Amino acid sequence: MVGSVLGTLLIVSVCSLYFHGTVTADYLITGLIASLIVASVAVGLQAQTNRRALALVRGREVRFRQMFERHNAPMLLIEPASGRIVDANNAAGRFYGYPAEQMKSMNIGDINTLPQEQVEAELVRASREERNYFIFPHRLGNGEIRNVEVHSSPMEVDGQSLLFSIIHDITERQHAEAALRQSVALSESLIQAMPVPVFHKDAQGRYTGCNAAFTGFIGKSCDEIVGKTVFEVSPQSFSQTYRDKDLELLDDPAGVQVYESQVKHSDGTVRDVVFHKARMLDDKGRPTGIIGVILDITDRKLAEQRIHQLAFYDPLTELPNRRLLLDRLHQEFAIGARTGLYGALLFLDLDNFKTLNDTKGHDIGDMLLVEVAKRLVANVRDGDTVARLGGDEFVVILESLDPVAAEAAAQAEHVAEKIRDALSESCVLNQRQYHTTPSIGIALFRGHEDTLDNMLKYADTAMYQAKTAGRNTIRFYDPAMQAAIEARADLEDELRKAIVQQQFCLHYQVQVDSLGRPLGAEVLLRWEHPERGLVSPMQFIPPAEDTGLILPIGLWVLQTACAQLAAWQHDALTRDLTLAVNVSAKQFRQPDFVSQVQRILVESGAKPSHLKLELTESTVLENVEDTIAKMRELKLLGASFSMDDFGTGYSSLQYLKRLPLDQIKIDRSFVRDITSDPNDAAIVQTIIAMTDALGLNVIAEGVETEAQRAFLDRHGCHVFQGYLFGKPIPLKEFEALMHQA
Ligand code: C2E
Ligand code: MG
Ligand code: MG
Repeated sequence: MVGSVLGTLLIVSVCSLYFHGTVTADYLITGLIASLIVASVAVGLQAQTNRRALALVRGREVRFRQMFERHNAPMLLIEPASGRIVDANNAAGRFYGYPAEQMKSMNIGDINTLPQEQVEAELVRASREERNYFIFPHRLGNGEIRNVEVHSSPMEVDGQSLLFSIIHDITERQHAEAALRQSVALSESLIQAMPVPVFHKDAQGRYTGCNAAFTGFIGKSCDEIVGKTVFEVSPQSFSQTYRDKDLELLDDPAGVQVYESQVKHSDGTVRDVVFHKARMLDDKGRPTGIIGVILDITDRKLAEQRIHQLAFYDPLTELPNRRLLLDRLHQEFAIGARTGLYGALLFLDLDNFKTLNDTKGHDIGDMLLVEVAKRLVANVRDGDTVARLGGDEFVVILESLDPVAAEAAAQAEHVAEKIRDALSESCVLNQRQYHTTPSIGIALFRGHEDTLDNMLKYADTAMYQAKTAGRNTIRFYDPAMQAAIEARADLEDELRKAIVQQQFCLHYQVQVDSLGRPLGAEVLLRWEHPERGLVSPMQFIPPAEDTGLILPIGLWVLQTACAQLAAWQHDALTRDLTLAVNVSAKQFRQPDFVSQVQRILVESGAKPSHLKLELTESTVLENVEDTIAKMRELKLLGASFSMDDFGTGYSSLQYLKRLPLDQIKIDRSFVRDITSDPNDAAIVQTIIAMTDALGLNVIAEGVETEAQRAFLDRHGCHVFQGYLFGKPIPLKEFEALMHQA
């Protein structure tokens, strides 16, 4: 009997496990109580013990009975042989809609709607198995059919085999599951039916599915992509962006995302697309993945481009039309207002175009216009705009010129000349040579100082002036500007003459050590103009650089300085003097500059060690590798180098370290305020410390006072040049000074 109790207990615990909960243990209470009573009675204990045990058992039965009765889950005790319901709790009565008492006289066949034989067969099966699980359609008292889950276990009570069953109504759950299945199927067929590519991925970025349109679009089957990430599916160039956008969306409470991007199509082309993506959430609101739709907008984009092209470009030359020109001009005004830089508007008209068009035909006219457009574009910088207004009228916008009007005018004129030269070259159209020239009007602008229309009018007016002045001509709208340009042109003419007529001479400015002893001189170029007198290099070096005239002039300076060094070798007073010669960027950049210097040294017989070449920061930084190579070669010849105007440019220590320099020349702008401006004093001290660290000599230029000299000397700069020791003077005076010293 103890065995039977233990057996029942075992069933209880097994069932507990089966139903995953302590509550379930209560389901078997009735059976358990019965078994306990039977067990207690059958062991035949002594009367007193029996009474106590009986009382204990009864107490338990009452408690278990209450639990059975009050439990929320419907429970039935069935006799499997007959199908009779032996016991039913209140919850069962409530669920089935019969008084619990009435239920005890019912048969399970009254509830279960399956055919009688089937019900009986299931009862037999249930009584053989330890645990059973069924789903049955049960009929309630009101005739309603509910699907129920039945968990039942056989048990022995009072020697009688019974089935203990717990009923769980799953009708609603089944409805919900069916609805869910239907909705999944609906979504899936919707996705498949979509005529545009659709895909979905999990939160880790792995594809979970896609439709046929998607596989067609990217040329990979669904099987090939499911479980993979974009990094395995899409080209390298796109995948990171796709993933970044997905992550952004997963984090975005808005939950939707629309953006333009590109996708590589199965045909190998890259398509412009719009991605519409949405975030998917689980029932707790956590993101589980994304679903995306791809719209191919390539055709739309092309159409837009075509419309844009038609609206803003001239169909013949493909240059911007008047509308785009005004738009660009507007932008240039804004840039000018911000930067303070001038821009220029060049108005061009072809001379005699009408005659050519009328006599040779429009085809030739059109071909000429296309050729002109090409040449114009080839002769301006990338940021500049070339537009065609119509007919043979073109407009060029030059952007970001100099902040100084005169300089900007010179730059604009330079470009205009280049254009004039390019257009004046003959061209071959239909195997025949044609010749044309432009008239060009120029108007400078800066910011919004005038209206767009006015600016165009000014340039147009200037163009007419150019035409009346005799075609193939350039004219400025502003008379003062025109005058300045003409003056510059005159200066250039005169410079050319000056070379031929040998109007240049050199002045020598002494360089001294801390005891005031002369070490040498810097040669400074002077122009002895027959009418204007002595012209400063500040005035004529820039135009000489622009025109390339600096090359013959610079060569002459080098030759003269070397001849002087050679001449000084015979005099003990001058034989140790060095000469510093300024070398302009253009001069230094000549491919044969090294051999020029070498030839001059050989021809003059000057000692190379006495020749010091002064380069500016901008010169050396223009092309550092070329600079270093040239400097090395020149140093092999014996010449040395000084970096002029140090501190005014953008020298980086990086380069300075690599350049084979001998000397750094502190610019006179720092020396000027060295005793009054703590900043300048600090800069100079830093420069000196740096030259020291790099093992270079240092010289200060523009030393005018004893206080400046003393400061420099005190801080480690012991070589000086400046008015304190001598102004630049003609050779005769310089030699006299040397003999006095
Ligand atoms: P730079 O090479 O920095 O020459 C020094 C300039 O400072 C010279 O002006 C000189 O007269 C001036 N200067 C010297 N000591 C003092 C002083 O104590 N106080 C003041 N306020 N100024 C002083 P310059 O002769 O007018 O030359 C100006 C620039 O022209 C030179 O600057 C150099 O860049 C260029 N230059 C002169 N001659 C030549 C040359 O033969 N070839 C080239 N390419 N450029 C030259
Ligand atoms: Mg110099
Ligand atoms: Mg200088």
